[in-house]
Amino acid sequence: MSERPAIPKPIPKPDELNAEFYEHCAKEKLCFQRCNACRTWRHLPRSMCAKCGSTDWEWEESSGRGRIFSWTVTHQALHPAFAGDVPFAVVVVELEEGVRIVSGLRNLPPGEITLDLPVEVEFERVSEQIALPYFHPR
Ligand SMILES: [Zn+2]
Repeated sequence: MSERPAIPKPIPKPDELNAEFYEHCAKEKLCFQRCNACRTWRHLPRSMCAKCGSTDWEWEESSGRGRIFSWTVTHQALHPAFAGDVPFAVVVVELEEGVRIVSGLRNLPPGEITLDLPVEVEFERVSEQIALPYFHPR
């Protein structure tokens, strides 16, 4: 009897502005939009600045360093591809630039996560075009 094929994890399907975000990630660069009018960083990608309303912006590379702003620990896989990963942490990282990103944490058991834990980005390639940003303690 043959084993059932492994169920692949879902991966992002980039479109429009988030396609550019993932193009940077594929080059292992964590970049966010930055308003050219008021210099405010933002994430998720969007066409207008929430602070000043300007549509003039550019991509700028983040330091990739931040702190754990919040987290939750997943004990039940809601998608079968993640069944072998539980328990795992889903973290909100606040980067030095002030933007927050939802990600995963590597190299630390979920029970050892603390508020404001200093972290740094790393990338994991999940397809030819897609590399996902994760974080590890620094
Ligand atoms: Zn602005």
